[in-house]
Amino acid sequence: MSAAKFGELLLERIRAEGPITVEAYMAACNAHYYATRDPLGSDGDFTTAPEISQMFGELVGACLADCWRRAGAPPHAVYAELGPGRGTLAADALRVMGKAGFGGDVHLVETSSTLRRRQAERVPGASLHARIEDLPPAPLLLVANEFLDALPIRQWVAGDERVVAADGERLGFVGEGEVREDSPARDAAAAAVANHLARHGGVALIIDYGHARSAPGDTLQAVRSHRFADPLAEPGEQDLTAHVDFEALAGAVSGSRVAVSGPVGQGDWLKRLGIEQRAQSLIASNPGKRHDVEEAVRRLCAEEQMGKLFKVLAIRQPSWPEPIGLAP
Ligand code: SAH
Repeated sequence: MSAAKFGELLLERIRAEGPITVEAYMAACNAHYYATRDPLGSDGDFTTAPEISQMFGELVGACLADCWRRAGAPPHAVYAELGPGRGTLAADALRVMGKAGFGGDVHLVETSSTLRRRQAERVPGASLHARIEDLPPAPLLLVANEFLDALPIRQWVAGDERVVAADGERLGFVGEGEVREDSPARDAAAAAVANHLARHGGVALIIDYGHARSAPGDTLQAVRSHRFADPLAEPGEQDLTAHVDFEALAGAVSGSRVAVSGPVGQGDWLKRLGIEQRAQSLIASNPGKRHDVEEAVRRLCAEEQMGKLFKVLAIRQPSWPEPIGLAP
């Protein structure tokens, strides 16, 4: 289906059938958006941490490998990733994990056929799955970077669920006032990961942008060509995300037998894992890259960049060690 067609059909459907919830709108738009393109990188719509620098994936890999070794290096543990994008994070992490002796299978959870193709090229031999529940019954070394922010949220105004309605040729929100958000889709994803960890062991690193404590506010946003856009303009043509509520996530896994650590800011976490030292060694082996490497450290760690808004939460089976850098 062409891009224009998707937006037209959505508008037609809303006109014929009436308003749809923000949750249904976000789910439909993002399904179309991710299925029809690779949105990452400088000529795409947005750039994620692993696309900024190999250091990000390497430090995630070092963190997971360290947990695995301290857990006794179980040979049947697998690397798992949710929403792996171009497969860059997996490739960088697995290189470091391989050096640490990890040789387990690789399992990627991805729904976009376009991105699945890229992941298969980048991480040959990986098994692809549509759902978290399809991961194998083995201890997981799991990471999800900027996965949850793309899953749909619900919005509530004075107790009523906020909807998107047709207003002539345009779409508009119905419901003005203080907005509260929640996300059954994210809660279900976190609970599925936690249930798997509780049964089979392992650790999960959830990395995303959002707030440590639940608070009211409309955080739905659209990004296109690296700029903020109107979330109701050009449905299915721009990335729709919303802040991840880490307090709600911790609540969603509280019924499973797991231990939760964090969240901590991405900047502090990467520094505790040794990003400065990694940067110095990259510069030493390639002095011409000094500026790029230093700029990448700044983008990943500076408070006004990704260092504070992006956060890391760890979930683990209680018999597994706490990942480095997550203790307060
Ligand atoms: N983790 C990558 C990509 C982030 S973009 C990175 O850091 O670069 C979001 C990713 O989640 C994409 O790979 C997208 O296709 C995937 N995704 C979005 N919704 C999904 C869903 N419901 N199930 C599985 N994957 C999904």
